[in-house]
Amino acid sequence: MTGSPGDAEFGFELVTCRWAERAWPPDRERDAVPVVARQLGTRNRRWDTVVVEADPAGLAAREAFGERTLDADLLHVVRHAPAEWAWYRDTLPDPGYPWRYVRAAIHRAEARDVVRTRRDGNRIEIRRIAPYPEWVRRIVAVENKPDLSASAARALGDQLSHDVETALADEVWVATAATSETVEPALLEDLPVEAGVLVLDFEGGGGPDARVAWHPATLDPTTDTSLSAPEKAAKRLELAERAYGSGWRSYVETMRPDCRWFELREEAGALVPWCAATECHQTAAECSGSCPEFQPEPPAWRTRGWPIEGGPGKGIQRLLARRRRRQRRR
Ligand code: SF4
Repeated sequence: MTGSPGDAEFGFELVTCRWAERAWPPDRERDAVPVVARQLGTRNRRWDTVVVEADPAGLAAREAFGERTLDADLLHVVRHAPAEWAWYRDTLPDPGYPWRYVRAAIHRAEARDVVRTRRDGNRIEIRRIAPYPEWVRRIVAVENKPDLSASAARALGDQLSHDVETALADEVWVATAATSETVEPALLEDLPVEAGVLVLDFEGGGGPDARVAWHPATLDPTTDTSLSAPEKAAKRLELAERAYGSGWRSYVETMRPDCRWFELREEAGALVPWCAATECHQTAAECSGSCPEFQPEPPAWRTRGWPIEGGPGKGIQRLLARRRRRQRRR
């Protein structure tokens, strides 16, 4: 995998996310804002990269509900909260579970400032802060395989067939790194024809160049499959909300930026973690509480301004959070 960050799939995944943030879609005019996240999915299936194609005006309106994810319970409240005060049971659809859980969600929503509440005797009344916008246009799932060998293609084939059959996303893709070879037709044979193949070329320096080796079919999430159409609509919105809240830079929340050896290095246009102790791009699993090389950053580091490379960890976290915020507001 020439020029891509190390040989870890993790680094390739981060570079793919950054590329998607800048350049999605690869095969059409851009009229949506890509909201990119990684390692999202359902209980049964997790995708490497998720691109939510967002309506620009809807995405701007979504900001009124804060930066964090609205989970299923909060969505139930904010999507149905009325413009005028009303008792919550008169206005929210029957949730299909006890109302006391809805009351708990209303209190959480109030604490997050995404709904207004007041008391009328024993009754809790609610009012919306703004209409919850229709901001999600399409959801695209991408599997990252920097080295698309025959066995990798076979293993991916089953997963992608499942994605195509379920049609929870509008499109599914495989992203792979360019080699001197063209993508072998035999490899494509192991992948469902509905899955697109994207080849990222790192030879030129800077961000990768992308080439579509195979165009995907458009799936139809409004049909019943193993999931009913309403179930899919709910799951898609929850997925989109998780993508909005976490973005793809949230890796820093599970890694150890507070370690003195933790650095960020620019690779193919993305900031990718680098471990100065082992002198390689560490994976998220390696850079955890159990890492034997971990050393806390010296307290003195926290008193000076710090560049992108190296500690202190809080500065790195702030930098990545700022970038995530900026991308949402494009
Ligand atoms: S030494 Fe371990 S914890 Fe520290 S940056 Fe390297 S991988 Fe992460």
